[in-house]
Amino acid sequence: MTRRAIELLLLVALGAVWGWAQEAAAWAFAGALVGALVWSIFDGLRARNVLLWLNKSDAARAPNVSGTWGEVVERIRKLIKKLEKKAQNSDARLEDFLAAIQASPNGVVLLDSAGRIEWSNLTAAGHLGFDPQRDLGQYVRNLVRAPAFVSYLAGGDFSAEIQIDGPGARPSQPAKISLQIHPYGKKRKLMLTRDVTAVQLAEAMRRDFVANVSHEIRTPLTVLSGFVETMQTIPLEEPDRERYLGLMSQQAQRMQTLVSDLLTLSRLEGSPAPGPGEWIASDELLDHVIQEARGLSQAIAKPPHDIRATDAPPFWVSGAKTELLSAMSNLLSNAVRYTPGGGRVDAGWRLRDDGYGEFFVSDTGPGISAEHLPRLTERFYRVDRSRSRETGGTGLGLAIVKHVAQRHGGQVNVHSVLGEGATFVIALPPNRVRARVTG
Ligand code: ADP
Repeated sequence: MTRRAIELLLLVALGAVWGWAQEAAAWAFAGALVGALVWSIFDGLRARNVLLWLNKSDAARAPNVSGTWGEVVERIRKLIKKLEKKAQNSDARLEDFLAAIQASPNGVVLLDSAGRIEWSNLTAAGHLGFDPQRDLGQYVRNLVRAPAFVSYLAGGDFSAEIQIDGPGARPSQPAKISLQIHPYGKKRKLMLTRDVTAVQLAEAMRRDFVANVSHEIRTPLTVLSGFVETMQTIPLEEPDRERYLGLMSQQAQRMQTLVSDLLTLSRLEGSPAPGPGEWIASDELLDHVIQEARGLSQAIAKPPHDIRATDAPPFWVSGAKTELLSAMSNLLSNAVRYTPGGGRVDAGWRLRDDGYGEFFVSDTGPGISAEHLPRLTERFYRVDRSRSRETGGTGLGLAIVKHVAQRHGGQVNVHSVLGEGATFVIALPPNRVRARVTG
């Protein structure tokens, strides 16, 4: 028998005994009824307590009732606790999930069925130029005004991505954002954004590079095939034949130099930076390139240049010997090729007070005006196109020098005033340089 039934029987019995004490059977019956009534009032009050508590559903404030109602309260309390825990877990999982999307390098925006922003991560807000908190609930079409986006959103065909300018994009500072909408649920939309500025720039550079290489190869190729055709159609006297063959060989040489420079560049780009393993004597490197430059000057300049090696105390340089020699000889060959015959060229290694080791080449040539200086190390950038070609330049020399310097942790600097010669410097960081102890 449950406790409630015992309580009820007790009260009914008490009522009946009280009625019996009044010495009338009817009174006993009435007493039993009163007992039952009192019990149901008490029980009703307990039920009310439970209902009031259920309305609040707060597991921590369960009413203190005994018996069956106590049992009911306890079971419901446990159920509420379980649900509360589950809700807490779901909240934590949602937080984690949103934090992960927040950390994504891609932008994510959730739009409701009317196209209002429900949620956005910071990346998307940055890509599209809105505020992820303040602009919640705003129509995205009012915030992103790029015409391509407006018609994309209105068109409803989201099978492909579109590209729009990022906020603050300028011709001098392009910013491109790729964007695609993915519909989901009941007319809701997931919008993903990606910053593709660097990809676009790389693609543009690749296109320019291919166009430049094709152009550079086409010119000597056209000249060569012209000569071949002439020699095939016109019988030439021996001196003319000799001259033509000489010119043809010059063009072939030009293509060979270009291909060799291109291979050097691609090797430099595709291989890991040289470790600090090999230590080379700076004077050994210098002697090598000075001899080479003197040979070049004898061959192309009349009178030859006055090429001098500065005699600062030699030291050790660490890096890839062939790369360093290639960078140094490119600078010297430029000085010789651009300085008129008889001019002076100085080259040498010197240790700076801050521990850097510098290789410099100065000449008394035409110099370079300031507006060209920042672009000199770009591939195929030439100030004096015809002089470059005349002297067998490929337009890649300084790009190679810059790559070599950067791979060794250093940089290239140019100082020049138009008409007053130029000085090119490769500066290597202190960890690439070691003083030579002379004993
Ligand atoms: P190039 O093969 O044309 O010499 P580089 O990359 O070596 O290509 O040099 C780029 C351009 O920088 C050259 O075309 C030239 O106009 C300019 N330049 C380089 N070195 C000198 C120099 N010592 N004096 C004047 N101009 C120079």
